[in-house]
Formats: sequence, C-alpha cells, structure tokens
Amino acid sequence: MNSLFKITKTLTSNNLRNIYTVAKKLQQAQPHLEATPLAVQPLTTLTEDELAMKETVARLAQEQIAPHVREMDNEGRFKDSIVEMLFSNGLMGIQIDPDYGGAGCNFMTTVLTVEELSKVDPSLGILVDLQNTLIANVIIRFGNEEQKKTYLPRLATNTVSSFALTEPSSGSDAFALKTIAKKDGSDYIINGSKMWISNSDLAGVFLVLANADPSKGYKGITCFIVERDTPGFTVAKPEKKLGIAASGTCMLTFDNVRVPESAILGEFGKGYKLAIETLNEGRIGIGAQMIGLAQGCFDATIPYTMERMQFGKPVFSFQGMQHQIAQVATEIEAARLMVYNAARILESGQNYTKEAAMAKWYAAEIAQRACIKCIDWMGGVGFSKDFIQEKFYRDVKIGSIYEGTYNIHLSTIAKLIEKEYKN
Ligand SMILES: Cc1cc2nc3c(=O)[nH]c(=O)nc-3n(C[C@H](O)[C@H](O)[C@H](O)COP(=O)(O)OP(=O)(O)OC[C@H]3O[C@@H](n4cnc5c(N)ncnc54)[C@H](O)[C@@H]3O)c2cc1C
Repeated sequence: MNSLFKITKTLTSNNLRNIYTVAKKLQQAQPHLEATPLAVQPLTTLTEDELAMKETVARLAQEQIAPHVREMDNEGRFKDSIVEMLFSNGLMGIQIDPDYGGAGCNFMTTVLTVEELSKVDPSLGILVDLQNTLIANVIIRFGNEEQKKTYLPRLATNTVSSFALTEPSSGSDAFALKTIAKKDGSDYIINGSKMWISNSDLAGVFLVLANADPSKGYKGITCFIVERDTPGFTVAKPEKKLGIAASGTCMLTFDNVRVPESAILGEFGKGYKLAIETLNEGRIGIGAQMIGLAQGCFDATIPYTMERMQFGKPVFSFQGMQHQIAQVATEIEAARLMVYNAARILESGQNYTKEAAMAKWYAAEIAQRACIKCIDWMGGVGFSKDFIQEKFYRDVKIGSIYEGTYNIHLSTIAKLIEKEYKN
C-alpha cells in the first residue's frame, strides 16, 4: 500500500496523468496486484491551485472589470488600468515559469482564467487567451534560452503580444500566405501584410509567419519575432467590428522590415508545424472563451426571468420557458465538459486534436444558441443596449470564425473519423 501511495504521489504533479501509464507502473511495482484504475475524478474537479486562480479571477472580473465593460466596448479599446491589472495579477503569464517572471501554472488554469474573464468580458478573454495559449506557449515550446530570457519576462509583466498568421488572401488556407522573408547577409527582410491581428493595437511583440523559402512551398514558412518599433513595420487603426469591440484587431504592413537571424523562433521552415500545434492548443482556449461567454449571458438572464411577471406569474414559471432554460443549461454544461476534457487530455500528453476541434466547434455553437435564447427570454429589453445580453450576442459570433471557422473544424473532425475507421 505504501509503495502504491509513493508512486501515485510522484505522478500527481501534473494533475491528471495517463491512466494507462499509471496502471502499468503500479503493476510493475506490485505485480501481485491487478492493475486497478486509480480513483477517477469528475472532469469538473479542480486542484487547490486551479480553484484558487478561478476564484481570484472571478472576483477580479466582478469587482474591477464589470464596471468598465460597456465603456470599453463603446470606445473600442481596453482601459490601461485593466490591462495593467491583468499583468500585476499574473494573468498574462499564467504558464510562464516563475524563473522568467510568470505564474508557473498549468494549462487548465489558463482555461479557467479565460472562462471566468469571458463571463464578464469576452474581449478581455481573448486578450488573455492569445497571450497565454499562443504567444507565450510558442516561446516556451519552441524558443531558445536567449529568446526565453528576452521575451518571457516581458510577456509576463508588461508587454502585450500578437500572433500574425492570417493575410488578406489567406485565411482558412493559412499556409498559402504571401509574406516573404528574404535572406540578406545574416538578416532577413520581411515584406507583406497581415490581416485581422488581435491585440495588435497594444502589442509590443509580434510572432509573424513568413515564407523564407517560397521554392519549398509551405515548408519555407518560418516564424519570426518582430518588435513593434522595427523600421518599416506599421500597425493600422483597429477594424470596426460587430463584436469583441474592445479587442483591437488591425492590419499589419511589412515594408522591408529587417530582422536578424536570431529573430527566427523554432526551426527554419517549421513555422507551419509550430502554427498547427499551437493553434490546436489555442482552440481549447477559444472553447473556454465561448463557455464563459454563454454562462455569463445565462447568469445575467435567469434572475430577470424570475422577476419579470406576466399573466400574474414570473415568466420563469412557464413550462415552455423552463424546458428551453433547462436545455441551454445542459448544453453549456456539455460544452464545459468537452473543453475541460480536451484540456486534461492535453495535460496528460496524449493527442487532443479531435477533442480540441470538437470542443471549440461545440462551445461556439451552443454559446450562439444560448445568447439567442437569453435575448428571447428577456423579451423587448433583451433587444436593448441597456442590458448586457445584446453585447454577448454580438461578441459570440466570433467563435465560429477565428482560430478556424466552423467548416474547418468540422473538416478536421471528419478527417480524423475517416482515419479511425479506415485503420
Ligand atoms: C476578430 C478577429 C480576430 C482575429 N485574430 C487573428 C489573429 O490574432 N491572428 C491571425 O493570424 N488571424 C486572426 N484572425 C483571422 C481568422 O483566423 C480568419 O478570419 C479565419 O481563419 C477565417 O479566414 P477568412 O476570414 O479568410 O475566411 P475564409 O477562409 O475566406 O472563409 C470564408 C468561408 O469559406 C469557408 N471555407 C474556406 N475554406 C473552406 C474549406 N476548405 N471547406 C469548407 N469551407 C471552407 C469558411 O468556413 C468560411 O465560411 C482573426 C479574425 C477576426 C475576425
């Protein structure tokens, strides 16, 4: 029993572990025992650290963000004090090692943080999501020690960052990108443009995917770290958008932007691999944004349905309403379980491509339905700007577009199903 305890203790560092590996190790240590499954926890069980972060972020969101959400949406920009608050609370470097100034938490903590922020403001949800799941994640996974020392402390403490893949002529077909990085001595000269780049109004550091050897097609695509003040690099004014208005989405232009060879992140020609792997992870973050958004809209709506009287009764009391409310609550819960499951699979080191695509697609789908229904349940006032539901309704639409459209995710899922059934 004692040795069983020792083994499980050493294996608990990453919360959930691959149960088969655990069972095998147990069997090797105690061959007389059957390999019994370890105590399996509900997907919604969180570690103490995860729970502490979730509660802290929920409190910060209610107390410090909620009062400013409308103003930020109307002005189309975040308040500086709120972005500073995200940095000072460690939310911009959640998974960055404390040696580089980060909070040193796990991926699930990022998911919970994005979910909690998005319950109050999905625009801030995407700011924190991209900083953690894309940019910091790429530098942690693919950066060399020099790059980690240079950029991770900045990302964790004071510098917003952007991930620039999409171009005017390449969206879903992302690796047909036309931005070129041409070798010139020991430097590279970048020319081209990027479109729809989130947080680029504020970003100080950009990860830019450019083709450094077009003769090799997508195998020439390489990731470069570009500083905002590099000569020839310009960030246009934020686009006017339907939703997540406070999140600045801009076009970037590269006009003979010279960067040193040391700006290459990861291997030369492996930018497509870096992007695919990172976006897989990022999609779970978008799923978290969508379940947070759906829950935030639901939470803002149900109390109204209990107070609003029609035919002498609260509108919540009508069975026609209750069945719809129950269905939406169930869908949000199902999506949450899918998002958490994808996060836990990722943490366990197993392949999570299908689960991430399913979680992102489903979360975006049910979040849209939840927002539509919440507005219906509010009646006329749901259509008014005096209530927050109309903002959630505008914000939710982005879930079916960025980090892969609906169709792209469904194609990914279908491809993987085909592979499973062919084998
Ligand atoms: C607010 C916002 C923020 C963004 N942030 C970023 C960012 O930070 N960094 C970044 O690099 N990009 C970002 N993007 C870009 C985003 O990822 C792309 O918009 C998205 O991938 C879709 O590309 P597209 O807009 O060119 O649409 P298109 O690819 O032109 O798609 C148009 C339609 O065709 C469908 N379609 C395309 N190909 C297929 C196919 N093979 N099968 C079936 N249907 C298909 C699509 O599903 C869609 O319905 C952002 C976009 C927005 C709107």
